[in-house]
Amino acid sequence: MGDAGERSDRGLDCAVHGVGVPYGFMCGHLFGPQQVGWLDAGSDELCPDAWCEACEETRKASGGWTDENGAAAGVRVVCACCYHRHRGRQRRFNHLDPSTPGTLMAGACRETQDLNDRLEADHELFSRGSWHFDLGRQQLDFTEGNAPRFHSRVAVVGSYSEATKTWLWAWANSNLSVELSARSHAVLGYADRTGRNELLLSKQACTLDDAWHSAAGGAALMGARGLYRCPFESLHLFFALLDLRPAAGSDIAAPGV
Ligand SMILES: [Zn+2]
Ligand SMILES: [Zn+2]
Repeated sequence: MGDAGERSDRGLDCAVHGVGVPYGFMCGHLFGPQQVGWLDAGSDELCPDAWCEACEETRKASGGWTDENGAAAGVRVVCACCYHRHRGRQRRFNHLDPSTPGTLMAGACRETQDLNDRLEADHELFSRGSWHFDLGRQQLDFTEGNAPRFHSRVAVVGSYSEATKTWLWAWANSNLSVELSARSHAVLGYADRTGRNELLLSKQACTLDDAWHSAAGGAALMGARGLYRCPFESLHLFFALLDLRPAAGSDIAAPGV
């Protein structure tokens, strides 16, 4: 994880992730080796401001951010890829047990499958209508006939090639923009924390079903609201759904996720 480099209008220069990368700000404690928890401003941005649990206690006690607690937080700039690697390392997960081999991916897959089951039960998201990927907005649009049903901002978890029968994590895919791939660095962060290095493998000669399991595990580590697989000719892109919401003008209630 690179330390902060040069910042300019076009982005941050990160020693690891290249020049002109999008960036965000985190309290200095999140950079350390200790497990300090993770809170963030939860906005639509790629890297909302983030801080640790100790900073949150101070912030709450002061009734918000002040000059003093802001200075004590030691806020630093960080590239978007490094940000999400730290996020995967620091976030607390309720249901994922890193201690027992085999349970992590099983638990993570179940979490994603449960989310998908609910999206299908409530909205027939996977069985009705069709989808369109809006690359410019990094958004999936779900439609039925000509009527829009849902939109969701998305991030890529990884991809599966029918041609080579291989799975490729988004963080290892240089063809993807940082905006689409940065969040997948949470998988690397989780591996940093747990030593689960098998997470880092881009599998050879795996099946589409194996790829789905990797994607479902990754989506849970990224904090996704669901997982959607989109075939593009012989390539399947697995999208983490970040904020599924009803289309304007539709009378569908917001998903209760
Ligand atoms: Zn802090
Ligand atoms: Zn970086």
